[in-house]
Amino acid sequence: MPGQAVETKVAEFVNEPLTDFSQPENRQRMEAALKKVAGELGREYDLIIGGERVKTGEKIKSLNPSRPEQVVGVFHGATAPLVEKAIETADRAFESWKQVKFDERADYLFRAADLMRRRKFELNAWMVYEVGKTWSEADADVAEAVDFCEFYGREMLRLGPPQPLTPVKGEKNYLQYIPLGVGAVIPPWNFPAAIMAGMTTAAFVTGNTVVLKPSSDSPAIAAKFVDILEEVGLPPGVVNFVPGRGSAVGDSYVVHPKTRFVAFTGSKEVGLRISEFASKPQPELRWVRRTVLEMGGKDAIVVDNEADLDAAVEGVAVSAFGYQGQKCSACSRAIVVREVYPEFLTKLEARVKKITVGPADNPANTMGPVVNKSSLQSIQEYIEIGRKEGRLLTGGGPAGGEGYFLQPTVIADVAPTARIAQEEIFGPVLAVIPAKDYDEAIAIANNTEFGLTGSVYSKNPAKLKKAAEQFHVGNLYFNRKCTGALVGGHPFGGFNMSGTDSKAGGRDYLLLFLQAKVVSEKVV
Ligand code: NAP
Repeated sequence: MPGQAVETKVAEFVNEPLTDFSQPENRQRMEAALKKVAGELGREYDLIIGGERVKTGEKIKSLNPSRPEQVVGVFHGATAPLVEKAIETADRAFESWKQVKFDERADYLFRAADLMRRRKFELNAWMVYEVGKTWSEADADVAEAVDFCEFYGREMLRLGPPQPLTPVKGEKNYLQYIPLGVGAVIPPWNFPAAIMAGMTTAAFVTGNTVVLKPSSDSPAIAAKFVDILEEVGLPPGVVNFVPGRGSAVGDSYVVHPKTRFVAFTGSKEVGLRISEFASKPQPELRWVRRTVLEMGGKDAIVVDNEADLDAAVEGVAVSAFGYQGQKCSACSRAIVVREVYPEFLTKLEARVKKITVGPADNPANTMGPVVNKSSLQSIQEYIEIGRKEGRLLTGGGPAGGEGYFLQPTVIADVAPTARIAQEEIFGPVLAVIPAKDYDEAIAIANNTEFGLTGSVYSKNPAKLKKAAEQFHVGNLYFNRKCTGALVGGHPFGGFNMSGTDSKAGGRDYLLLFLQAKVVSEKVV
């Protein structure tokens, strides 16, 4: 029988601790890392296909959103023929990689986690510069990337051996999980370490090979991760580093007949396009292509009249404005029962006014820039729409400075069907919606096409029970913020237009990258 059970000596999974930046030693290490990385900005990076470095005429410039004239890195971008070459290369590498034993594959993840842990401050610094994460947001992103490696490595040890089946008399039977083939891994920029590393490691620990197309806003941190994979000795061709502009060559990753699956995290629009293109019949296609699509959100926090109002205000502010509101899990709607609505608004306004906005490398700032110029423009357009749809409570415009800085913006008295209550803005804009009672608040919370995260603040257990049954989101929290899902503890992913119901960081996740083969032998 193949893939015998291994004796597992790996300790139980625990989440990577976050760095305490109030400690002088940690502050100094972060300052030193920022200085070191500042000296490495602006370098050129090649594509890596089968271990070979490839240059092209297409250049993708990654810029620092806190100082857009500062180039973080210049990336050779793929053309459609190069994407094809990368997929063919990954397909050849699959033939040998799929035969590598599962515990050996898991070991690459454990060693990569170890290196990331040792380079945590440096990886943090790359994200501070590349995507405008504050120190603690960048640190949480790296910690999550480490967690994905540790968690999926352990999961592979669990799923690698033959799985138990109901005994059949006169037969010897087993079920073995086997890989799919070549996967296109297409992450977003907003968790450019965690989501990129999570989707990539899940794809290759299961025995598949990968063509990794990082977001054009965050290729540098992906390049650093690919360096780590090379350093731990991952064979060439298993993970190919193939940046390319989604709008120009994105479809080529999806429609190649040897692309067996696509793992995507990003917007609803691109996710639906991938879903459509991936499922189109093609003459040479020999499988029903699998897609794992994790998409947008319009997440709500419901504040009940029986809530601890101070805790609710804090939870809403942190969920709405952490990483500038650019988390798929960010609270973009606060739905507040009328009885406590005026008091909630007064407290929220005071709390939001304490947020300091400015360059992400300065730890005094609790909010950095939004990721790029087109985001800045689109968010500003939504603020203008919001001014007409509701009452501007605080914020409402640029926060000054040379970067893409916006004030944290709260718009009150918004109707549940208003555009800013329905469409994903993906920036520091919060719509506050009054509800006549708790039941109406839950109904409003459910009234969008998305279903990613949500939270309820209430001290009444019966109301929480009702929300558990009726609030239709993939990740529901009570009396806490709606961001900050932990690998293992909060498997993450949403319903409806938020995606294909996959749960990243959960025990079902690796199965999305595997297929089950059952072997039954008659024994007399
Ligand atoms: P995006 O614009 O959809 O881009 C995501 C990725 O898709 C990028 O790598 C992008 O490349 C690529 N892409 C663009 N067009 C493509 C095409 N035609 N074919 C193939 N790939 C293509 O999203 P984003 O702005 O990076 O990320 C923000 C979105 O992600 C938000 O909607 C957020 O809610 C969602 N998100 C969801 C989750 C979740 O778990 N559900 C987690 C995080 C983020 P380029 O950069 O080159 O355009």
